[in-house]
Amino acid sequence: MQVPFAEDVFTWPADDPQLIGARCPECSAVTFPEQSSCPRCGSLEMQRHLLPRTGTLWTFTIQGFLPKEPYNSGETDETFEPFGVGLVQLGDDVKVEARLTEGDADALEIGMDLKLAIVPFRTDPDGTEIMTYAFEPVR
Ligand SMILES: [Zn+2]
Repeated sequence: MQVPFAEDVFTWPADDPQLIGARCPECSAVTFPEQSSCPRCGSLEMQRHLLPRTGTLWTFTIQGFLPKEPYNSGETDETFEPFGVGLVQLGDDVKVEARLTEGDADALEIGMDLKLAIVPFRTDPDGTEIMTYAFEPVR
């Protein structure tokens, strides 16, 4: 079985999952994750807004050391592999910080096309896979 790590972060299960954000009907600001008030104009009329599935890499870094809870997915110093963390521009509207499926800096390039992927984050003792979102390079 696969379950999302949190509710209302991405559409799941879905053939074409999308991140769930919010859009302000007053000033068109877009947020991710969903927020109940607009960070730009303070409107309380924020509406659920599904974000584009593809975007471009705005900037990135490589996480080269074992993350602490709650970002640690059960890895140990022995099993840990560096992974990319990117700021991904989705449409004109919003930048989203996300894990990248690629952990080799030489394979990443600012401006490259990325698409959303829902990937296993960790596996619970009962075998349930906890899914999270990431972006993968479009080759
Ligand atoms: Zn607003």
